[in-house]
Amino acid sequence: MNVILLGPPGSGKGTQGALLAERAKRPRYATGDLLRAAVQHGTPLGKKAKGFMDKGLLVPDEIILGLIGEVLAEPVAKDGIIMDGFPRTVPQAEAVGKLLGARRARVDHVLNFDVPDDELVRRMQGRAKVEGRADDTPEAFQQRLKVYRKETAPLIDYYTKLGVLSAIPATGAVERDQ
Ligand code: AMP
Repeated sequence: MNVILLGPPGSGKGTQGALLAERAKRPRYATGDLLRAAVQHGTPLGKKAKGFMDKGLLVPDEIILGLIGEVLAEPVAKDGIIMDGFPRTVPQAEAVGKLLGARRARVDHVLNFDVPDDELVRRMQGRAKVEGRADDTPEAFQQRLKVYRKETAPLIDYYTKLGVLSAIPATGAVERDQ
């Protein structure tokens, strides 16, 4: 079963995704984590991605599509994975659909984490203190929210039309809505 976690930055999809991965015993791949590791190791991918990430912009599709292809080609991915933080644009969603379709699989569920903006900002401020991410400054975070609304939120419609979207009201305690 292939599951996509969709939601704005700070919506808790990473935290819920890790719990879901553990319970469903399926691997979770987060493009954000893979990119941060690439930046840290100074790989060619990391060098290309860093400037976009620090500014709160999306890494362009032509760079990300290769990474998505690699993730979906992992042997463990053939029995289904949890996709955290991708696809993030309509072209990425089309690529995921094609790559899965080529091996007779599909996107089975998209969980849409819905959190009001003021709550997102409050959570980001808490996380910035703990993790110290370069893109958790107030400016970069606002930019990431803006980019989310413009480039990623259209996926809500995209997957609603495919009949696979479920809304997750993502406020409250981590374990509450299990
Ligand atoms: P995240 O940890 O998912 O919030 O991702 C952190 C940053 O990595 C984002 O703000 C983007 O710059 C970049 N990123 C992660 N996933 C993607 C993606 N699927 N497409 C484009 N950029 C991405």
